[in-house]
Amino acid sequence: MSSNTVLEVKELCKYFDVKGGIKGKQRVLAVDGISFEVKKGETFGLVGESGCGKSTLGRTILRIYEPTKGKIFFEGQDISGLSRKKMHAYRRKLQMIFQDPYASLNPRFTVGEIIEEPMVIHHMYTPEKRRQRVQELLETVGLKPDHIRRYPHEFSGGQRQRIGIARTLALEPDFIVCDEPISALDVSIQAQVINLLEDIQKRQGISYLFIAHDLGMVKHISHRIGVMYLGHMVESGGADDVYRHPLHPYSKALLSAEPIPDPNTARSRHRILLEGEIPSPMHPPAGCPFHTRCPYAMEECSQAAPATYELEGRRVACFLYSPRYLRQREGLAIEPLLQKTS
Ligand code: SF4
Repeated sequence: MSSNTVLEVKELCKYFDVKGGIKGKQRVLAVDGISFEVKKGETFGLVGESGCGKSTLGRTILRIYEPTKGKIFFEGQDISGLSRKKMHAYRRKLQMIFQDPYASLNPRFTVGEIIEEPMVIHHMYTPEKRRQRVQELLETVGLKPDHIRRYPHEFSGGQRQRIGIARTLALEPDFIVCDEPISALDVSIQAQVINLLEDIQKRQGISYLFIAHDLGMVKHISHRIGVMYLGHMVESGGADDVYRHPLHPYSKALLSAEPIPDPNTARSRHRILLEGEIPSPMHPPAGCPFHTRCPYAMEECSQAAPATYELEGRRVACFLYSPRYLRQREGLAIEPLLQKTS
């Protein structure tokens, strides 16, 4: 792990046991063997369809859910097996911004109390210093000093998300999981919240894991992107590289479905329509998890899961990028598989 790495996740798994039904106890493989790292001051964007395990991954990293297997290193320290008591010291440093700003704010507390509460729980500062911090945080997120005495229901969705961000920043975190923080907001407000998160990152050097299903938005805010499918990370790499030249067949399909504002560009884009439903994480297919919907699937794809191959700073879990297949296509490199989108 480099000294610049804030978070490293190794082969992380989160399974849920589900009781009931005619089959009795069953297992949901929500996150299955994911590895990646996030550097200081970096945003790692996580995309994938609903139910692919993005939010579960974020919550498992923060130990809201206990990991089933695998390791989580925060600033070099293995936090995956820490007791609740020992984990308390890390809670300050590892924070989360939630999707629904209203549900995450206590309606009976004033804005001042909501922002101050985490500092009280973590015994930070004197009461006077805390009040001063609350004022500073309101200013940081673009709210007015007199908002301190108001209640959450008096604010718009965008303002409530700002209150949520101020509360998260109160603990001076180094790493924040942003779990679809803009999807409940109007489009006009989304850009404001994104700009605010970027400003805060520039000033304070915080690292984000930014979860969303909108690849365009993730590309805008992220330095690197990971694409998830059925609890697996199928591709990761630089945001521009993944967005412009996705390698994994699923990333290509995801990108081809992105809405494009320019009608001419939209007309020229080849849309890849995936057949069939996402398999249930309770009964994932054998072999490559994407083989039931992959337009390139070969016989071996249903028999064994592909390893994750490294290609010029990219990681991709697909047999088409194994050394054997790349050798077979020697001279053609990987071009024929790239669906250029610009
Ligand atoms: Fe498709 Fe096979 Fe690659 Fe999986 S391993 S994405 S099924 S080509």
